[in-house]
Amino acid sequence: MNRRTLLKTGSCAAIASIIPPAIFGKTYAKNEISADKQPVGFRKLKLGELDLFILSDGYIRDKNVADYSPRANVAQLKSILKNNFRSVEYIDMAMNILLVKTNNKLIMFDSGMGIFADENTGRILKSLAEAGFKPGEITDIFISHAHPDHIGGLTEKNGALVYPNAKHHISKVEFDFWMQATDNDFKNSGLIKQLDFLKTLLPATRNILTKIKPKINYYDYQNPLYGNFSFISAPGHTPGMTLVKIKSGNEALLVVADLVHNDVILFPHPEWGFSGDTDLDIAIASRKKVLQHLAETKSRIIGYHLPCPGLGYVKKSGNEFEWVQETFYTPV
Ligand SMILES: [Zn+2]
Repeated sequence: MNRRTLLKTGSCAAIASIIPPAIFGKTYAKNEISADKQPVGFRKLKLGELDLFILSDGYIRDKNVADYSPRANVAQLKSILKNNFRSVEYIDMAMNILLVKTNNKLIMFDSGMGIFADENTGRILKSLAEAGFKPGEITDIFISHAHPDHIGGLTEKNGALVYPNAKHHISKVEFDFWMQATDNDFKNSGLIKQLDFLKTLLPATRNILTKIKPKINYYDYQNPLYGNFSFISAPGHTPGMTLVKIKSGNEALLVVADLVHNDVILFPHPEWGFSGDTDLDIAIASRKKVLQHLAETKSRIIGYHLPCPGLGYVKKSGNEFEWVQETFYTPV
C-alpha cells in the first residue's frame, strides 16, 4: 500500500492526518536519506568492570549478490534473502566498531573505512565524538586484519596517523603477508575475479601498513594483554585474522571480526564462503570450527559486519548454525 491508496481508505486517512507526511513520503525510506544525515551513533554497555561502546562507521552495501558467496548456489542464496525479507539486489553489512575503556586504556577494535569511504561509510570519527572521545585519547588499536574496511581509518590521505598516540596491534603473519602479497596469493579466493581491485588494494594496504609500522606491536597469542584481552588466530579470511577474547569479572565477549559477514547466509552455509576470503578452503574450515566452538560454549560474541550492533550468540539447530541477535529494549 502506498501513501495514495492509504489516504483513500477511510480510517487510515484519519491516521494519516495526524502523522507527518514524511513518514509516508519518499524521504522516510532509510536508503534515501542523504549521506551526511545518515545516523552515526553508539551503544554503551558494561562488561564486568569495563565500559564498552559500540560505534558505527556506517554500512557497506554490496550489490554484487551473485558473487557474494563464491561457492553458493546463487538461486538458493537469493531465496534465503527473500525468505528473510531482505533485498535480493544487494546485501548490506554493518560496520560495528568496538571501543573498550579500562581504568587506564581506551582501546579501539579496527578503524573503519576511512580513506576508502563511500557515501555509506566513514562515520567513525563522528560516532567517536558522539560517544565523548577524541582520536588522541585512543591508547591502543586491535587490528583484526588488514582489509580496507578495517584499516582505512588508521591514516589520513596524506599518511598522517589518525590515532597518533595509539599502539597499533596486529598479527605478524598478517603484516608480513600484506607487505609481500601478489595476485598469486589469491588463487583460491573470489577476489581473483577482481584483478583490477587487487591491483589497487595491494599497494594501498602496504602503504597504510608502512605508515603505522613505527607504532606496531605484534600479538602474543600465548599471553593475555592488560589483564583483560587474549588473542586467537582464525586464519583464512586473511592469513593472520585475529579474534580477541575480552574478560572482566564473570563476563566475557569474543570479538569475532570478519569470521561471518552475514547473519542469514553464512551461519547456515559457512561452506559457501565469502567473496573477500583470501583462501576459501582455510576460511571455511576456520569458520566451521569456530562456529562449532561458539555454539558449544554458548559464547557471547560481537561481529564487525553483523546487523548493528553486532552482539549475539550462535546456536546449532540440526546441522545448521543460526545467529541469535542479542535483544535490546531501549534505543541506546
Ligand atoms: Zn570487513
